[in-house]
Amino acid sequence: MIDLRSDTLTRPTESMRAAMAHAEVGDDVYGEDPTVRVLEERVAGLFGHEAALFMPTGSMANVLAVRSLVAPGQEVLCESRAHIARAELGAHGAYSGITMRTWINARGQVDLPVIRDLFAPDMGPFFVPTAAISVENTHNFAGGAVLPLADLQDLREFATGVGAAVHMDGARIWNAHVATGVPLSEYGAVADVLAVCLSKGLGAPVGSLMVGSADAIAEARIWRKRMGGGMRQTGILAAAGLHALDHHVERLADDHAHARLLAEAAGTDPATVDTNIVVVERSDAAAFVAAAREGGVLVAPVGPTAVRLVTHLDITRDDAEKAASVFAKLA
Ligand SMILES: *Cc1c(COP(=O)(O)O)cnc(C)c1O
Repeated sequence: MIDLRSDTLTRPTESMRAAMAHAEVGDDVYGEDPTVRVLEERVAGLFGHEAALFMPTGSMANVLAVRSLVAPGQEVLCESRAHIARAELGAHGAYSGITMRTWINARGQVDLPVIRDLFAPDMGPFFVPTAAISVENTHNFAGGAVLPLADLQDLREFATGVGAAVHMDGARIWNAHVATGVPLSEYGAVADVLAVCLSKGLGAPVGSLMVGSADAIAEARIWRKRMGGGMRQTGILAAAGLHALDHHVERLADDHAHARLLAEAAGTDPATVDTNIVVVERSDAAAFVAAAREGGVLVAPVGPTAVRLVTHLDITRDDAEKAASVFAKLA
């Protein structure tokens, strides 16, 4: 089966497994795992921030990142299909007492005029104050869309002007970086905190990081332990992340080329494909998924009329061409 359901499906390569097997480790709750420290310092540096914290999941990184900016009873603004709003099972409300209001943009983009309207300053005991604005880059449910740097810079300027913070869900920030050539540090510069994943296109089996100021990370370290996320000899996992940063970032360009190939075959305009995710609009989404499976390709329905295809490390050029021929027959 050629599995295009998600880029979380990758399995560690032999050389990644070797790096994991030979990782130097210690007890990370004691702050004594050297490999975790190297990973945290390296990722903080890539984004031009002071510190970073390794976590089991991107959801946990988002929960701790958002709560570092937004107090209980305050709100965060985000796009309506943001992962933090849709796919974290209400964690920001359930754990952190945070509410959300959303703007709608089909491509998951920053819509500054609407954000300006939604933004609520602290007016005392009357309205929920907006503490932060969250953006997702690339935007998963908007089909892996990239948020242009200029829009992010405008948002940063607005947020600073009104005293709000900016959170970036950068689960796939690596894809945005490779697709546009924008340095990671420029994305880092527009956000107060970021959450980034190693377990998507980068191909690590587990692992995400929150990136931010030394103070925010020190506080998040406490919350991570409080939530049961303190890990011990986790350098084994951090080694996979370091290996991924060394070997699996630039190759994301191949995933993007494969995604355009699949889009073309499936009758989707490849110009709408920024990175490694293709959303195919089909009135018969369920039948399309079943027919693709018959042809040896797994794809995921993401609504009654939409199917998602995701390219990743375990999809070779040959796999992409085979899948394209299956989609061409169905198109
Ligand atoms: C996958 C993903 C996350 C984190 O997911 P986990 O499964 O908790 O690691 C966060 N944001 C986006 C946009 C994602 O796609």
